[in-house]
Amino acid sequence: MDLLLRNANLVTQNPQRDIFKGDLLIRGNRIESVGESLENPGVEELDLSGLTVIPGLIQTHVHLCQALFRNLADDLTLLDWLRYHIWPMEQAHDEKSLRVSAQLGLFEMLRCGVTSILDMGAARHMDVVFEELVRSGIRGFSGKVMMDAGDQPYRETTREALESTEALLKRWHGAENGRIHYALAPRFALTCSNALWEGIDHLARRYGVLIHTHASENRQEVELVRQQTGYHNVEFFVRKGLASNRLCLAHCIWLTEEEIHALKEYRVNVLHCPSANLKLGSGFAPVPRYLKEGINVSLGSDGAPCNNNMDIFVDMRLAALIHKPNFGVTSIKARDVFDMVTLAGARTLGMADQLGSLEPGKLADLAVLDLNKVHTTPAEDFYSQIVYSAQSRDVVHVMVDGKWVVQNGQPLAYSEEEIVNLAWQECNALLKRLA
Ligand SMILES: [Zn+2]
Repeated sequence: MDLLLRNANLVTQNPQRDIFKGDLLIRGNRIESVGESLENPGVEELDLSGLTVIPGLIQTHVHLCQALFRNLADDLTLLDWLRYHIWPMEQAHDEKSLRVSAQLGLFEMLRCGVTSILDMGAARHMDVVFEELVRSGIRGFSGKVMMDAGDQPYRETTREALESTEALLKRWHGAENGRIHYALAPRFALTCSNALWEGIDHLARRYGVLIHTHASENRQEVELVRQQTGYHNVEFFVRKGLASNRLCLAHCIWLTEEEIHALKEYRVNVLHCPSANLKLGSGFAPVPRYLKEGINVSLGSDGAPCNNNMDIFVDMRLAALIHKPNFGVTSIKARDVFDMVTLAGARTLGMADQLGSLEPGKLADLAVLDLNKVHTTPAEDFYSQIVYSAQSRDVVHVMVDGKWVVQNGQPLAYSEEEIVNLAWQECNALLKRLA
């Protein structure tokens, strides 16, 4: 689409952090120019007077396959939540239930201004998830969840895990003109054998893809990893040769000093999930410390059943608030959190040169906000207004890859009524299969 957006408040996230009233020219799927008063080269114009344009928001840890389990597993700690609720429900998915689960999550996130996600997929029927990533219009990174070891009945063989992963990777990585990406998804240290980790390392190097997993979310998990492998989580990944800027670790709450140094040394990405960490009683990740060390920290909602929504505005607000009692009120500011969902998210995805800011040459992923509301007025600082005051209902339009995917608050690919009806139906059917 060639389009000139006029008269918007542009929160650019460029290196100077310019914020000004101006215009933004989109050619095809890229931003061609950004300026105070651009000449129209003869393309369609859209007047956004009074509205605010921000880079598309990036969620780096979600589980689309769990959206259908929203409100079904409350008040539990991680390992019981997984063993007795989430793993059995994930295993009970068929193609229909998985499809509507993905639709629920995608609809919700798009409506919140999210343009890119890093998703931990399902163990089976993964083509369905990729089909919905394509259909929704979002920029999607996902991969089949891999488990071939550990104290759980949902194991597959190492060979099955690797072969099916490679087949999916070949089928989907780079699809839709590069909008769809494969990200390897081993669940966590204890659910994967040594042979599987070696295979994952091989695939990551061969295809240049991300490794997306969980680490140090819960003290009991940390202790089990230490007992069974002899190492703490991050040490384990270093020993396996997996620590690099392609490694994306959700949570990182309970790390030793040595592990924090390793994150820094190997440029490993931390995926912070404040809602999930609170709801599962897991703890507080020392995010201000990580930021001080220059470790890349981005933000995610995690799964719907440990949140219980996937609203990035809720997680932005929590990320800005929950660390203040431990680290001080200036330890993490609104702008730091806005960086997490834009620039740091782009770095996590290995797309810092393509995403995260409104700059010429970058991909046209953006969200338009209406901040002329009672709950956002007055404000002298856009970061403060967006992170502390704004809500997802302030998102008006969303563009991914130069195409509108949300207009007037409504995702274009789906009908909310249809998804809600289908979700009830498929959730009931899944619970019946489980019984
Ligand atoms: Zn997770």
